[in-house]
Amino acid sequence: MAQRVLLVDDSELVRGMYGERLREAGYEVLLADDGMKAINLAFEESPDLILLDVQMPKVNGYQVCRLLKDHPMTKAIPIVMMTAREAAGMIHDPRKWSFQTGANGYYGKDEGTDLINYIKPFLDSFANLKEPKRKQAPVLMSEQDILIALSQLLDRQLYLDITRLKELDEKKDAFVANVAHEFGTPIMIMKGFLENIKDGICGPTTPEQAEAVTTMLRTANRIGRLVRDLLELSKIEAGMLRLKKEKVDMNDILRNTAEYYAVETNRKKLTVEVEMPSETIYAAGDEDRLTQVVVNLLSNAIKYTPEGAKITLRLSKENGKVRVEVRDTGPGIPETYRTKIFDKFERIYEEKAEGTGLGLPIARDIVVLHGGEIWIESQLGKGSSFIFWVPEAQ
Ligand code: ADP
Repeated sequence: MAQRVLLVDDSELVRGMYGERLREAGYEVLLADDGMKAINLAFEESPDLILLDVQMPKVNGYQVCRLLKDHPMTKAIPIVMMTAREAAGMIHDPRKWSFQTGANGYYGKDEGTDLINYIKPFLDSFANLKEPKRKQAPVLMSEQDILIALSQLLDRQLYLDITRLKELDEKKDAFVANVAHEFGTPIMIMKGFLENIKDGICGPTTPEQAEAVTTMLRTANRIGRLVRDLLELSKIEAGMLRLKKEKVDMNDILRNTAEYYAVETNRKKLTVEVEMPSETIYAAGDEDRLTQVVVNLLSNAIKYTPEGAKITLRLSKENGKVRVEVRDTGPGIPETYRTKIFDKFERIYEEKAEGTGLGLPIARDIVVLHGGEIWIESQLGKGSSFIFWVPEAQ
């Protein structure tokens, strides 16, 4: 008995031409001009091979292939996807997509390969299957059934893909945390020795040596900060950060942080103003962590604001929320970055200033852990306001 090939293509020309070639080679040919018909024919006729066009109306070849490869009655049938990539003006790689959707082969209509030679091995190996799933009761599907089955299939696929990505992401985070951890001690040791050399404890140094040591120390400090931030963030992400529940004097935090950076702000000739009510405002949370948020925001404002500019720290409260604003007259944040820069490693002005791209994600995570919110208001060229609120202490 002749082997049967189901040829699926919306082009009459292709069906005519390829159908002819297949018949000449001794195959029986079943024809379908769209994906819906192809699915039903595959179930009814259980062909020995399906030659499936990619681009078709209603359901495309990839969808047909996914559905047939997912069904126990049809999954063993070899499917060879085919298309003329150039002519169809595709920007994706149909060969790759075909295999990803479960096809057994891919035939480029415009690649000059002989169709019969290409499909023969698939037909031979299918014929050799001991118990091919063939000639079972037909399952006729309406167009709606097919669309529902497809959407369920895609949902399931999406769920599996997302789960896998999440697992990979967790593995990657754990890896980064491990590497950061391993880096911590050697960097501390290096820094210790470099400081000793710099302070003359290891003997006198020439000016050139002293300069080299200073550069090395600066680099070691930078790596040290990166490692510290990475560890910090992985701790938060792993849910390992336990917040203390204190009554936190926010006036103190703002005042102390501004003071802490006085040398730096004087050096850059920045004016720093702290605007807060005379009464003390208390937040409910973790003092060290809330300080860290203000430190990250203020140090950014100092870093990204040009000399002579102004920074304002403002504290207020309303409806049980303590609000902190760090405003600067720096370059501002472009609209597209206003949420993005709270993601890890996102930076806008990376060429200009040193940084890790982790300060804002850490600040955001801390604020969110407190049950608060953080956001940016900004006018390009005029400055930015980083604003957050956390609950007020009762
Ligand atoms: P880092 O400062 O280490 O790069 P952050 O996460 O703290 O990392 O900040 C991310 C990016 O956001 C910075 O690289 C910078 O491009 C931008 N940014 C942060 N604060 C400001 C600011 N006040 N003005 C302008 N750009 C800022």
